[in-house]
Amino acid sequence: MRLLIMGPPGAGKGTQAKGIAEHYDIPAISTGDIFRGISKADAETATPLAKQVKEIMNSGGYVSDEITNQIVAERLGEPDAAGGFLLDGYPRTAGQVEALDAMLAEEGTQLDAVVSIEADQDELVERLLKRAEIEGRADDNEETIRKRQEVYAEQTADLLKVYGDRGLLVSVDGLGEIDEVAQRIFAALDARLSR
Ligand code: AMP
Repeated sequence: MRLLIMGPPGAGKGTQAKGIAEHYDIPAISTGDIFRGISKADAETATPLAKQVKEIMNSGGYVSDEITNQIVAERLGEPDAAGGFLLDGYPRTAGQVEALDAMLAEEGTQLDAVVSIEADQDELVERLLKRAEIEGRADDNEETIRKRQEVYAEQTADLLKVYGDRGLLVSVDGLGEIDEVAQRIFAALDARLSR
């Protein structure tokens, strides 16, 4: 089972990724988690790569395709990913789509599906505002939340189109309880894969 997962900020993508990975017994590989791990190295032991990644992450930008593709290729080359994987947060650019295609072609494998978690923007904003209130997160005001949703939509529109054109897209309504959404994802994936 080789899967990708995409979804707007606040739609519970990370949580669902873990559930899907467990369900199909495949590793969930998040490039965001990998980069956070790399950048965590303390100042004395930090490699040039760690310093660079930290700077980029703090600025809110993207790590270069060159570094990102290299890191994903290495991770997918590990034994636990040989039978399948769920990639979360990758690919994010056209160059990364191409690189992933090449990695899979080299192994003679291909993606089985791309899960897209969808959520109505207004409901998502409302949900995030409620969470911000409960958790006291002052930076989560309506404007910044909407801005993040816009950035996501802009960045992923092309990717969703690419995978949609390939017939790989499995779109699932992401609003509801965690378990409810998980069941929706499994049902949609089972339907897609039994075709
Ligand atoms: P995320 O947790 O997926 O939002 O990722 C956190 C940060 O890691 C992003 O803001 C980027 O700086 C970096 N990152 C994660 N995935 C990628 C990727 N596929 N390409 C480039 N940068 C990435």
